[in-house]
Amino acid sequence: MSNSNKHRDDISTEIEEVREVYTDLAARPLTRNCTLRTECCHFKLTGLTPHLTKGEALLAARALRTTGRRKLPERSDGACPLLHPETARCLIYQDRPFGCRTHFCAAAGGPAPRSEVLDLIHRLEAIDDRLDGQGSRPLPGALTRALQDLG
Ligand code: SF4
Repeated sequence: MSNSNKHRDDISTEIEEVREVYTDLAARPLTRNCTLRTECCHFKLTGLTPHLTKGEALLAARALRTTGRRKLPERSDGACPLLHPETARCLIYQDRPFGCRTHFCAAAGGPAPRSEVLDLIHRLEAIDDRLDGQGSRPLPGALTRALQDLG
């Protein structure tokens, strides 16, 4: 196996592990009522931008590629670049980052307590370490870098 093929296989393994974290999160009894208001996707309004570990960013970047996009869409209104400007839906909803799955708006019941998901955060951090990710980064920069990493 060539080095480049091995590298891709390694990334696929880590991406699958990130998916497992998301699956385990979905099995937690966090009672929330997200009705896809997408309020949390408007970073400028909320003052909060999700931070992604490298594994999360690679999964999100790969999901964005499946929509036919090779670059991060541009937005000038301070909303998430993955929020479709016309449908107001997340372009990568099935593979959205951990923060998008845990930081609910007040109407949906508020953010999940960190203590209830800390073990899952640690698993994402461990994956980040293995990918030499050097910690979580704000979504736009993390996605831009991950798209470059995918080549
Ligand atoms: S990744 Fe999707 S769910 Fe998360 S902030 Fe962006 S548009 Fe919203």
